[in-house]
Amino acid sequence: MKSLSPIQPKLLSRINERLVMRMIRDRGPSTRAEMSKSIGITFPTVNKAVSSLLESKLLEEIEESPSGPGRPAKRLRLASEDSQVIGVTLSDTECVVACAGLDGVISDGCSLSFPTPSTYDSLLVNITSLAKELMLRGEKSTLCLGVSIPGIVDYQEQRAVLSANLPLLNGKFIGRDLQGLLGVECLILRDAHAFSLSERLLHGNGETNSNVAMLDHSEGIGIGLMVNNQFLTGNNGFAGELGHISIVANGVVCNCGKKGCLETVASEWALEAKTSQSIGREVKIEEILQLAKAGDERVQKELEQMCDYLALGVACVVNIFNPGTFYVYGQCFRELPHLLDLLVEKTKQYALEPSFEACTFAHASGGELDGTIASIINYLTDSLVPDLDDYVRVAKT
Ligand SMILES: [Zn+2]
Repeated sequence: MKSLSPIQPKLLSRINERLVMRMIRDRGPSTRAEMSKSIGITFPTVNKAVSSLLESKLLEEIEESPSGPGRPAKRLRLASEDSQVIGVTLSDTECVVACAGLDGVISDGCSLSFPTPSTYDSLLVNITSLAKELMLRGEKSTLCLGVSIPGIVDYQEQRAVLSANLPLLNGKFIGRDLQGLLGVECLILRDAHAFSLSERLLHGNGETNSNVAMLDHSEGIGIGLMVNNQFLTGNNGFAGELGHISIVANGVVCNCGKKGCLETVASEWALEAKTSQSIGREVKIEEILQLAKAGDERVQKELEQMCDYLALGVACVVNIFNPGTFYVYGQCFRELPHLLDLLVEKTKQYALEPSFEACTFAHASGGELDGTIASIINYLTDSLVPDLDDYVRVAKT
């Protein structure tokens, strides 16, 4: 009898492969029997999906030493011996190119860097050179390269739209350009979006909330959001520009061209400008942090004001998205951990009480590079087939 299902057998196989990949990503190495039981599909179906994923070098088999009589079942894990992904992070001062297995672990010596050049062409040359060096090491298959962009990204076009702090990227199709130079699939992603995945995928953190926010505080200010377990990008990929919400009417001109953005009063560059003014000489972030540790009251006052402004933005996110966990990432918070308490205290003053009480705040344990690698792994896992709703819709047309 002819099946009435709109789902074609080949695509059904890919859905099963995605279920297997997701389970191993979320729960760690598993046997075929464990997967069959947990996912609810038959053993032969799991076996078929696993064979295809082994062939694609997305999974690998590991032997376990026997703990009892009989041969132990082989476990499957995300490939790390024979496959790798490459993550690239870009800032206005330094660019990093690193490789990791699909377990997300960046081994010693696998992270290379260079000072950020002044032109886009030089940037491409430098990234290509280091990526090739990593690709030629150890004879691993490079499955994908991901570039974290400090600015707005159009995911549909795979284009860097606007980077206030690294304008040489504006309008560039850097993923497509690198793909042409390296012959490997390349994708781009917003740095703050990558952060929201790093805690969940690589560090676990016991994170069980399906609604998570991640504040990325540095030269810019971004927010990464997981909403109902979905990575929130917005219609075009522009979501998360917390740094460019207007906080001060007719305030200082921001790098984006608008006036009074949150970044003009609460970013690292704003902190440098304001502290330099109050101290009477130019100081950079590293010195500001040293002065704060030494108990300098002028610096402490500026840090308090920065947290006060930042809390206005954090409270907006708490009220609008009701996250269960709110991670905070940034050099200031890492070096001066008590600043998080101050930020939370001030957020409490601005946020709605039920929303604030339902949210736990924590330091982020991952970094931008971790997040970039996590995003590539997430892409490889989920790109096997579009979301099921979309898939059925496509299959029906
Ligand atoms: Zn702005």
